[in-house]
Amino acid sequence: MDTCIFCMVASGEMDARKVYEDELVIAFDDIAPQAPVHTLIIPKSHHIDLGDDVSPDLLNALFSAVPKVAKIKGVDTSGYRVIVNNGRDANQTVGHLHVHVIGGRSMSHGMVLFDGE
Ligand code: 5GP
Ligand code: ZN
Repeated sequence: MDTCIFCMVASGEMDARKVYEDELVIAFDDIAPQAPVHTLIIPKSHHIDLGDDVSPDLLNALFSAVPKVAKIKGVDTSGYRVIVNNGRDANQTVGHLHVHVIGGRSMSHGMVLFDGE
């Protein structure tokens, strides 16, 4: 999948501000942050979305990385929102599974990020 930008981040072909890495996943800051903290966690292997042959081990690695990333970014006690845009109706724009970790400011009640913006 050499045309996939997140595969290129995972392989080091594309620069990214790396936050965390283990055997299965890598986390890096979003290029267009929507909050003071906006980090993406991706599998190193290419999966389009949650329905694309994602093993329990990989799911475990992805979501186990969330609190680690939150601690590294300093939002573990203030709180953060975790979002997976999965597929067309969710407006997934990059076809490589990724988990958004967003924080550093107060967010709206409910599912959207910010009220009135
Ligand atoms: P989606 O809308 O698919 O859930 O989120 C894709 C995210 O990837 C967006 O927040 C976008 O800003 C981010 N993004 C797209 N291209 C790049 C890139 O080349 N580098 C980084 N660090 N983030 C990217
Ligand atoms: Zn990929």
